[in-house]
Amino acid sequence: ALNNNDIHKFFLKPWENEYLLVQMMEAVQTHRTLVEKAHFEYLSITDPVTQLTNHRHFQDQLRRHIELCRSGGGSLALAIFDVDHFKSFNDRFGHPEGDRLLFNVASQLKALASPNALVSRYGGEEFTLILPLQSTGEAGLIEATAACERIRAHFERKPFSGLSSSPAYVTISAGLACFPAHGNDASELIDAADRALYQAKRQGRNQISTASKK
Ligand code: GH3
Ligand code: MG
Ligand code: MG
Repeated sequence: ALNNNDIHKFFLKPWENEYLLVQMMEAVQTHRTLVEKAHFEYLSITDPVTQLTNHRHFQDQLRRHIELCRSGGGSLALAIFDVDHFKSFNDRFGHPEGDRLLFNVASQLKALASPNALVSRYGGEEFTLILPLQSTGEAGLIEATAACERIRAHFERKPFSGLSSSPAYVTISAGLACFPAHGNDASELIDAADRALYQAKRQGRNQISTASKK
C-alpha cells in the first residue's frame, strides 16, 4: 500500500511498537478496500467471455468521445464488427469452442486496433471499435476505412491456432460510421453503423461497408 502511494502516514521517532502495528493493520485494511473497489469497477465494465470492455462501457465511452469531438472539432469512427457464419461454427464445434473463438477474435481485434482505439464486446459475436481520427471529413473516412480493412484482411489471411478445431478460419464483416458525417449523436451513429453492417452481410460478408451520408 505504501509503495502504491495509497497510504500516507507520519510516524514520530521513537515509535511504540504497538502503535506501529495498529497503524500498519489499518493501512493494510485500507489498501484491501481500495483493491476490492478497483476489482469491482473492473468487473462492472468487463465482459467475462472475451475480457474486453462490455456494452455499458462502450455506450459511456462513445458518448464521452463524441462530446470531446464536439467541443474540440475532431472526428471519430465507429465500427461494428460481426463474425461471419458464427452460428455454423458453434453448430459444428460446440458452444465452448465458440466461446474460445470469441476470446481469440477479441484478442486479435485488440492487438490490431491502434492504441488510442477502444474495442468492446457489443454482444453475441459483435464487437465495436471506437477510433478517434487524425483527420476530418473525407480524409477521416479514408483513414477509418483503411484501419478496418487492415483488420478484416488479417482475419481472412490468418487462421486461429490453439483451438481444438484449428486451424480455424473465420471472416468478419463490419459496418462503419463516422462522427459527425454519419450521425450527430451516439444512437444515430450506432444506427448508421448497424445499417452499414447489414449491408456488408447482404453484399456477401467478409467486407467493410460504410454508412451512407446523413
Ligand atoms: P452472419 O454471418 O449473418 O452474422 O451469421 P451468424 O451465424 O454469425 O449470425 P447469427 O446471428 O445467425 O448467429 C449468431 C450466433 O452467435 C448465434 C448464437 O448462438 C451465437 N452466440 C452469441 N453469443 C455467444 C456466446 O457468448 N458464445 C457462443 N459460443 N456463441 C454465442
Ligand atoms: Mg451478429
Ligand atoms: Mg455473425
